[in-house]
Amino acid sequence: MNGHAALYSRRRFLMTASASALVTATGCATNPVSGRRELNLLSEADEIKIDRESAPHQFSADYGAVSNTRLNAYLTEVGLRLATQSHRPQMPYSFRVVNAVYVNGYTFPAGSVAVTRGLLVSLQNEAQLAALLGHEIGHVNYQHTARAMSRGILYSLVIGALSSALSDKYSDIAAGLGGLGAGLALASYSRDNEREADAIGMDYMARTGANPLGMVQLMEILVALNDKNPSALEVLFATHPMSTERLETARHKIQSDYAADTQRDLHRERYLDQLAPLRRIKPALDAFQKGEELLMSKKFGEAGSEFKKGLNLAPGDYAGLLLSAKCRLAQNDYSEAARIARDAQTSYPGEPQAHHIAGMAFAKARQFEQGLSEFNRYATLLPGNPFTVYYQGFCREGMQQRQPAAEAYQKFLQQVDEGEEAQHAYQKLIEWGYIKKQ
Ligand SMILES: [Zn+2]
Repeated sequence: MNGHAALYSRRRFLMTASASALVTATGCATNPVSGRRELNLLSEADEIKIDRESAPHQFSADYGAVSNTRLNAYLTEVGLRLATQSHRPQMPYSFRVVNAVYVNGYTFPAGSVAVTRGLLVSLQNEAQLAALLGHEIGHVNYQHTARAMSRGILYSLVIGALSSALSDKYSDIAAGLGGLGAGLALASYSRDNEREADAIGMDYMARTGANPLGMVQLMEILVALNDKNPSALEVLFATHPMSTERLETARHKIQSDYAADTQRDLHRERYLDQLAPLRRIKPALDAFQKGEELLMSKKFGEAGSEFKKGLNLAPGDYAGLLLSAKCRLAQNDYSEAARIARDAQTSYPGEPQAHHIAGMAFAKARQFEQGLSEFNRYATLLPGNPFTVYYQGFCREGMQQRQPAAEAYQKFLQQVDEGEEAQHAYQKLIEWGYIKKQ
């Protein structure tokens, strides 16, 4: 599939979410942190609505929250300590470690925050984690997403900037997820936004007893990781632009404003104790990360070897299995892709993406009934992805059920009107006499 077409499809999907939020436009509002009057067309209820509509899709694309409840509880504890002392303590913050192996941390506008396993195993102490979460909470408090959307910079434009870097390569597009993988549904922040989030993040750290030195260490780690393996940090740095200025500002601040606080405990032991289960499988995570990178550069054979290596070290790993299934899909090995996706379903029951990948494998193998049942299951677990509706229609078409196929295609075209899938749906509707050619 053409990556550019997939980009437009996704863009339409996200613009629909944006447009629906703008219905309750309110005008100018006071920024909770700066106190300045600024254009903000979104109410707090709008931010919560966008967050609730978008975040579950991104979490699923990132292979869901880890099943280690103790680790999620730890992240929540560190996050809430900062959030409750922020300028918007009333927001519905939530924190989870997601199974993805690339390096990323992000938030949605109402405070649904996620950190990937790939990032968490790269950190060495709790102060670094607090810096990361403080920065994300900073974006929520400054209402950066709401303000960007109000200025007309919708998610779509922001995603446009990412497209050249990622859309052609990423396997989720081949897997028919409409490019919802790898952080593509996330808003990108401006350099000013980053400056503000860093500053307020350090302030929240200082207020809550964390060592602000963690912010400098976090940035140093990310820069070093990026030098070693840029593709693993592509999304993180595309959404949170990194600069030497950010690092220098943080270094300056720990010598001036926060000099006294740098003597505080970095909580290295506490962090490493919590991270022990993840650190034990770090060689597997490294192999998955390397495999994902190879998958993006379409080196499927080598990618497959890395996934196999990782799965030997961490048998049944949900993200590892799905990456492996996507690799098989990309190689047109549909029966093996379906088998591995089914293993992933067993390994993490109720996580939606495995059903989508199995559905794709069955649909491509022209086993439409099995495909449809997988897409139906996915739609029940995670409603609101127009591409599921498209593939439900596609399976109905394959099963010679023209009426339900046409209904699905019409529903899909109400949300997505560009890209390969939209063209197919549109052509079928003309062919079947549901619409007249314009
Ligand atoms: Zn940022």
